[in-house]
Amino acid sequence: MSAKVWLVGAGPGDPELLTLKAVKALNQAEIVMIDDLVNPAVLEHCPGARIVSVGKRGGCRSTPQAFIHRLMLRYARQGKCVVRLKGGDPCIFGRGSEEAEWLGEHGIEVEMVNGITAGLAGATNCGIPLTLRGVARGVTLVTAHTQDDSSLNWAALAQSGTTLVVYMGVAKLADIQIGLLAGGMRGEMPVAMIENASLPEQRECRSSLAAMQHDAAAFALKSPAILVIGEVVRASSSLSMPQRLHA
Ligand code: SAH
Repeated sequence: MSAKVWLVGAGPGDPELLTLKAVKALNQAEIVMIDDLVNPAVLEHCPGARIVSVGKRGGCRSTPQAFIHRLMLRYARQGKCVVRLKGGDPCIFGRGSEEAEWLGEHGIEVEMVNGITAGLAGATNCGIPLTLRGVARGVTLVTAHTQDDSSLNWAALAQSGTTLVVYMGVAKLADIQIGLLAGGMRGEMPVAMIENASLPEQRECRSSLAAMQHDAAAFALKSPAILVIGEVVRASSSLSMPQRLHA
C-alpha cells in the first residue's frame, strides 16, 4: 500500500466553498485530521472516516505540531488514506508546507489540495473587490501574529499601495493601527473587519484606520476575523452578495 497524505483546504467555512478535489479526497479518506477552524459540516463527505481533532487555536488547549506530525506518519505507515484538513488554504498561514516537508522527509507522499482562503472569501462575501483597476493594483495577505512576536514592516505595507488583508489581527489591532499610521497611511483609509466570513454568523464592521480599534471594541469583534484595509472597501456597494445555493 502506498503511504500518502492529502493536505486539503476546507475553505473558509461555507461547505459549498469546498473544491471538488477536496470532496473527492474526503470521499476516499479513512482518517481525517481536522483543525478547529474547519466547519464540521464538510465532514458529510467522509461519513466512514475516523475523525481526529487536532486543533490548536491561540489561547486554547493545543495539540503540539510534533504530535500532529507523528500521528499523520503513523496512520500513513499503517497504509491508511489520511486527509489532513485545514481551514481555508493549507499554505496560507496554515503550516501546510511544513507538514508536507516533514512527511516528505519521512518518505510519505503528499498531495496538496487548495482551499479558498478566508481573506478572499470574506472580501467577496462583503462585496469588496480586493483589486480594482485604478484603485488597487495588488493585494497583500499578511499575518499580524508572529511566533517570535517580531514586528512587521508596517511602513512598507502602508506605502505599498496594495489592499491589505490581515489575518490573526483581532488581538493586534493597536499594533496594526499605530504601525500603519506611523508608516504614513491616512487615518481615513477605510477598513472592513469581517468575522466568521462565509458562515451564517458572518458579521462585518466598517470603519477607518483611525477609528478601527474603537469601532472593533464597540462591535465586540471576535476571532476568527480578517481585516481588509484599503480604498477598495469604499468600492464595495455596487457588488451583489453571493447567494447561498442550498439555503
Ligand atoms: N489557512 C487559513 C488561515 C489560518 S490562520 C486560511 O487560508 O483561511 C487563522 C486566521 O484566519 C484567523 O485568525 C482569521 O484571521 C482567519 N480566518 C480563518 N477563518 C476565518 C473566517 N471564517 N472568517 C474570518 N477570518 C477567518
